[in-house]
This record gives sequence, C-alpha cells and structure tokens, in this order.
Amino acid sequence: MARRLVVIGNGMAGARTVEEILARAGGDAFEITIFGDEPYGNYNRIMLSHVLSGEESDADIFLNALSWYQENNITLHAGVRVERIDKYSKHVFAADGRVVPYDVLIIATGSHSFLPPMDGLYTPSGSVRHGVFTFRTMDDTRKMVQFAQHEHHRKAVVIGGGLLGLEAARGLQAYGLDVAVVHSGGHLMNAQLGPDGGAILRRSVQALGIEVHTGSRTTAVLGKDRITGVRLRDDTELSCDMVVVTAGIRPNVDVAVVSGLAVERAIVVDDHLRVMDEEDIYAVGECVQHRGEVYGLVAPLWEQAAVLADQLTGVDRSSVYLGSRTATKLKVAGVDVASMGLPGPELDTDEHIVFSEPSRGVFKSIVIRDNKMVGATLLGDSRKVAYLTQAFDQGLPLPEERLSLMFDLGSPSEEEGVAELADSAQVCNCNGVSKGALVSAVQGGCRSVPAAMDATRAGKGCGSCKLLVTQVVEWAADGSVEEDPAASYYVPGIPLDKAALMSRIRELGLRSVSQVFAALAPDSAEDAKSKMGLASLMKMMLADKYIDERDARFINDRVHANIQRDGTFSVVPQMKGGVTSVQQLRRIADVAEKHNIPMIKLTGGQRIDLLGVAKEDLPTVWADLDMPSGYAYGKSFRTVKTCVGKDYCRFGTGDSTGLGISLESRFQGIESPAKLKLAVSGCPRNCAESLVKDVGVVAVEGGRWEIYIGGAAGAHIRKGDLLVTVDTPEEVTLLAGRFMQYYRENANWLERTYAFVPRVGIEHLRSVILDDSEGIAARLDEAMQESVDNYVDPWSERDDPLTPGQFRTSLPLTVLPQVPVR
Ligand SMILES: Cc1cc2nc3c(=O)[nH]c(=O)nc-3n(C[C@H](O)[C@H](O)[C@H](O)COP(=O)(O)OP(=O)(O)OC[C@H]3O[C@@H](n4cnc5c(N)ncnc54)[C@H](O)[C@@H]3O)c2cc1C
Ligand code: SF4
Repeated sequence: MARRLVVIGNGMAGARTVEEILARAGGDAFEITIFGDEPYGNYNRIMLSHVLSGEESDADIFLNALSWYQENNITLHAGVRVERIDKYSKHVFAADGRVVPYDVLIIATGSHSFLPPMDGLYTPSGSVRHGVFTFRTMDDTRKMVQFAQHEHHRKAVVIGGGLLGLEAARGLQAYGLDVAVVHSGGHLMNAQLGPDGGAILRRSVQALGIEVHTGSRTTAVLGKDRITGVRLRDDTELSCDMVVVTAGIRPNVDVAVVSGLAVERAIVVDDHLRVMDEEDIYAVGECVQHRGEVYGLVAPLWEQAAVLADQLTGVDRSSVYLGSRTATKLKVAGVDVASMGLPGPELDTDEHIVFSEPSRGVFKSIVIRDNKMVGATLLGDSRKVAYLTQAFDQGLPLPEERLSLMFDLGSPSEEEGVAELADSAQVCNCNGVSKGALVSAVQGGCRSVPAAMDATRAGKGCGSCKLLVTQVVEWAADGSVEEDPAASYYVPGIPLDKAALMSRIRELGLRSVSQVFAALAPDSAEDAKSKMGLASLMKMMLADKYIDERDARFINDRVHANIQRDGTFSVVPQMKGGVTSVQQLRRIADVAEKHNIPMIKLTGGQRIDLLGVAKEDLPTVWADLDMPSGYAYGKSFRTVKTCVGKDYCRFGTGDSTGLGISLESRFQGIESPAKLKLAVSGCPRNCAESLVKDVGVVAVEGGRWEIYIGGAAGAHIRKGDLLVTVDTPEEVTLLAGRFMQYYRENANWLERTYAFVPRVGIEHLRSVILDDSEGIAARLDEAMQESVDNYVDPWSERDDPLTPGQFRTSLPLTVLPQVPVR
C-alpha cells in the first residue's frame, strides 16, 4: 500500500522535492498531500524581482500549475496553513480544521522577511502600516506594484542594501519613483562583496539614479495618516511615501517549535535531511539548519531535494547532503554582479588576484587556496562567470597564468571546456541542472536550445548560465541543433507566423492586443514581450478600428518622444522634406530658450532636435511649439530627406523638395515593423543619399524618377535595389506606398527593409508591386489609403494625458553618465 507523504510548504524546496520523488517513480510508492499557505501553485520566487521590474508578468513565473498536481495525483491544499504536528500520532493540524495523517512528513516552510525594530512600523492594532512592504511573496510583489503605480507616490526608501534590496530598488524605479537605499553595512551587498567591490558597486548603483546611504540604520518610519519619511540613526530624515524592508530573512520554524522538534537557528537536520531525533520527519530548504549552516539561495535546496528523494524512494540510500557552495548573481539590468565563495582572502597563504577599473565600474577578485578557487567576485564584466563557476563548484585545478581566470588569455576554449566538464557538473545553479541532465534531454529528443531549456529548466532562473547551457546543448547535439520553431513566430507569445496571425485576427474580428492574447495565446497568457509587435501590427491592419491599449507600447511610443541615455527625452518637431520657415525657427528658438533646452541639434534626417527635455515637461514643450510631431521615435515612417532640387540647384532635373514634402505629408506616422526612412534626390548626384534609404527616389533625365528599395546606411550598409523607373511623381507616390504596405504586411517584427528586400527578393517584389502577380495591388493601395486617412498627430495628447503616469518623471534605463549640456 502506498505510504502517506505530507509536505508542509508548497514553495521552491517542497515542490522540488516532490518532483524529484516523482522522477524516481515515487508516485506509486506515496500518496502525496501538500499544504501551502500561499493560495497558488508553485512559482519561481527568484523571478519576483523581474515581476516587480515589469520584465515578467506574474503568470509567467509559475513552475507547476494547479493541473500538474492533479495530473500527478497530488492533493494540494493551497492557501491552507499547517499549525501543528503531532509527531506521536503522526498527524498534521491545519488552520482550516483539517487533520491529515502521515507516514512520512517533509517540512519545507522556507523563510519570512525580517522586520528590524523601528518606531512607527506598526499600527496600534499590530499590523504593518499601509505603505510599508516586504518583498518575499507574489502577494507582496503585487501589492508593491499596485501602490507604486498609484499616482501620487513619488519616493521609496528601501531598507537593506543586499541583493534583494537592490533588486527591489531598481524594480521600483520602473514606476517612476525616486528610490533611496539605506543599508546598515559599511558597503552594499557586504555579505558577498569586499569593501573595494562594494565601493564600485555603489557608484554603479548611484549612476542608475538610486540614492545610497551605507553604515546607517533606520530608526523610525515617519508620518501620521500616511508615510512621510524615515529617520536614520544620526537623526537625518529622508522623505518618502513608501518603505520596502529587505533587511534579511528568518526561517519559518513556528510549526516545528510548537510541535517540539529540534530548532536552533532553523530546524536541525542530519546529512539525510532527517530532523534531529525524529524517525519520519524531514526538512528541506531555507527552514533548515545543516551542519550549522542556514542557506538563503536555491542551489542548496535543489541539492537537498535530490538527496531526500534518493533516501525516501530508496533509489540511493548512500546519498548524503554535505553542504553547498553558494554563488549569487544580482538581477539588475546594467549592473553585473556575480559572486561565489569568499569575498576576500582569509589565510596568509591565500592568493588574491584583483583587477579594478573604477571608471568603468569593473572589479574582479579571485581567491585561491591550494591551487583551488575558493572565492570570486565579478563586477561590471561577467564574461568569465560560467568558467569560474565551474572551477569553483568542482575545485578544478587552475591554470598557472592566473590572469587567464579573469580575461580570455589561454583559458580553455569553449568547446574544450564543455567537453571536459563532468556529467555531474552543475550548469544552471538556480534550477540545479547538471551537464548530464542537459545531455540526456538532448539525447531524449530535445534538439533545440529552448526545448532543452524547457525540459530541464536550465537557464530559467537568473539567466546567467544561458551561454553555458547553449554551449552544452550544441556540444551534445554534435552540431545538429535545430532552430526553435518559435523562431518563426511573429511575436514570442503567440505560436503563429505573421500571415497566420493576421488571418486569425481578421477571422475572429479581434481589435485589441488583449483580445489577441485571450483568443490566440496558449492558456490565453499575456506576454509582455509580444505587446509592442502586436500593437504595431494591429494598428497597421485595422487603422481606426484598432483599440489602443497603452501598456502595449514602448516608452517612446507612450510619450511620443525619444528617450535618451540620461532618461530625458528629445523632441523633434516635424519639418516636411526638411523645409522650415522663419515662423517655425522663431518658435523653436523661443521654446528652447523658455525651457532651457540644453542642446539643439540638427538631425541626420534634416530636422531640429531639442535634447534634454524631462518627461513631465513634454506636454508644455509640445504645446509651446504647436507643431506636429516629427516622428523621431517609434517603429514607423520617420522622414523624407530631400536635396535642394531643380528650383535652386543647377543640376536638378526633378522637384525633389516638392515630392519629398508630398510623400511625408501622405505617409506621416504610419506604423511599420521597423522604422522607415525615405529620401528624394533631384538628380543622380544624390545629395539626399537616396540609394541608402528604405525607399529612395532619384530624379533622372527626361523628368523620370527611379525608385530604390531596401537601402541602409546605419549599422548595416546596403545600396537599395532599383524597383522601377516611372514618369510621374504620382506614380512614385503610389508605388512607394504599395511597397511599404507589402512590407508592413509581410516583414517580421523589427525586420528593416534592408533585410526584408533581399530575403523576399527584388524579382518577387517587382512582380507583386508592378505586375500584380498576386492580384493584391488594389488591396494594398486601399489598405495604405486607410492608414493615411486615419492619421492623428500624437502630440494632440499633450492636453489630455491618456494615463495619469504618461508624463511623470522617468529615470535612466541604463547605467550611463548624464548627457553633457552644451
Ligand atoms: C525577490 C526574491 C529574489 C530572489 N532571488 C534569488 C536568486 O537570484 N538566486 C537564488 O538562489 N535565490 C534567490 N531568492 C531566494 C529563493 O527564492 C529562496 O532561496 C527559495 O525560494 C527558498 O525555497 P523554500 O522552499 O525553502 O522557501 P519558499 O520558496 O519561501 O517556500 C516556502 C513556502 O512554505 C509556505 N509555508 C510556510 N509556512 C507554512 C505553513 N505553516 N503551512 C503551509 N505553508 C507554509 C510559505 O508560504 C511558502 O510558500 C530570491 C528570493 C526572493 C524573495
Ligand atoms: S542631387 Fe542633384 S539636384 Fe539634388 S542637390 Fe544634388 S546636385 Fe542638386
């Protein structure tokens, strides 16, 4: 008869242990019941940092959906807390009155956030005050996001400058909040870094716009009805309206304590993960103390789960857990921190190799003992992290030339490195995936990197091992890695190529991005990374029938300006064909003066760029300019560059300026898979550089016009292909429009014409556009006309923002210096 296995805690350790048991055919040996006091299936807690920063949605981070429990005959009591264990009668008692017997019990209750003592943290009734948050669960994260999005919240103080605090601080910036971090240690992430690395990290974090106070404690949360600030130990007060406490964690041991189990700093277990002095009770994860150590990372609990499953299923009774070596990585875009083992030397005989380049935010330190790596810190450059992690995990002998540990000087080549790794070598620490597991996945039929990642979960935690995972899969597949089928999807979240996606949208009459997800995404799941591409495609297809949802847009498209490296925006008023007037110039000069615009620059597309405008000033700058948008942002038609043309130029044979203005008036603002830049030149001297534009027009002898398509002169350089030579500007307008519509309907998302034209072939394009070989020419013309007719100047939103936060202060997206004022 199956034995009754009860698990308390449905977090990363509890669910993983059950998975490991099932993988060892334990599904037949045990009747499994899991209690979890969070009302969900099992999710990847690590990814909450990405949920907070908006990179992932909470739906994306589930490891096991509720259906997984059903499929595996597991009884899940989600949202039910266990309060007590009777170890003599072998029952657990839950808060909802349920009493469940067990033969074997696993405690995997994890940790909770520690709230250090300070005044004003609690309400008189004892609950944590509104506006104070911890960062541990999905509910915590949702509440924080909701609060941060609320209109009048401006500044957050994060208490604790460890890994979690920095990830929280960076995440909160995504909502336009100013953030300060208060940290009691002498430097940030002091558990992982030495003071030198900490100083460099501080500079990188400050460069993100985050205020840092180290060596300082918060003694009080201020404000009566609502939070107004915090007080520090030296009586400094920092104003804020939101407080996030990330000052450490404490193991959840209440159940164990009231039930009379052995608890010191956490529940004490032996090398079999058996609770001390108990026969049938085991514990895994952060609630565990093993050989004096309590861990706060996932890698150790994966190792524990595997050992416990070996023991409970009897698959390998010799399996023991002897402790873990831990490595951490900060998940903050733009600040690379990887650390493992010791932050600095401990013994006189330890070798310590340090490279420091503070101006670039780069710091590397490696500690070596007996020719084995016992610690490494990499800041600002983590290219060697995969190799060093392997050297650290496996105690590999090190090259004599120590410098090659930090830089690519004769360290093992990738191929050699991967081939030499032992099967047991852990490739993905977050999900505990070994080289052997990846190789088996490939041998079991996973022929693409994403398929192997899905099958093993390798690379799905913090993401730092993706390079190594790819190398292992490529090596294991022996050169026969297949392209991922998802590569043909127009957007990653909808398993359809562009043509199929468009026809499904038409068939089902879908009109908004959320309707597309609901109807066509697997499990109707919304995928943040797909939204921009879908929004652009649907706007192109549906014109005025499209229902706009602002969260589907990138920041540039939300505020109709181009975000710059310091987080300010550049405003470019429209100047059709590059032609301006005294009145326009005067207005631009007045606006630049009134708003102290730090830099006025002529763009490559013949416009005037007002650089350095803060997000909240955008509406007034536009209102004062009272000119239409010049479309210097977004995936859409941008400008038509023109040369002087025949009215003034001695060589000109065509009115390039007139045609340029007319093309720009017609196609302004139309959406496309990538930006579209046009030009018209008045003769083959080509002063407007028409041969290197997405669509370039050149006047030639006899009053005729050549149309070139697919040119580029940016990161990629390509001379456009001659589509056709025509007699009149009207034909240019019609055929250029027809080509652009065909491109809009058939190009991949973000595929520029320089890639699209050679991919599809100029012969094919000529046959469709000129000879109407597909019988779609009239429809293409009509579709373009519909987009043209539905043009609305986006700057008209200045007086009536669409969302409360549309024009709220924005913060730098990447760690970069302030743009200089000239
Ligand atoms: C935002 C964030 C980012 C992180 N980033 C990283 C990272 O990059 N790398 C890394 O290695 N680690 C990271 N961690 C830590 C990692 O998530 C934890 O180490 C891991 O989740 C611990 O797993 P666990 O199962 O022991 O505890 P948990 O995942 O916390 O699971 C314990 C579960 O038990 C439930 N429970 C508790 N008591 C009871 C009870 N009495 N009855 C029923 N249920 C109960 C809890 O509600 C919880 O759901 C991060 C953590 C957070 C919060
Ligand atoms: S391209 Fe020809 S017409 Fe235009 S400015 Fe140059 S020389 Fe003059």
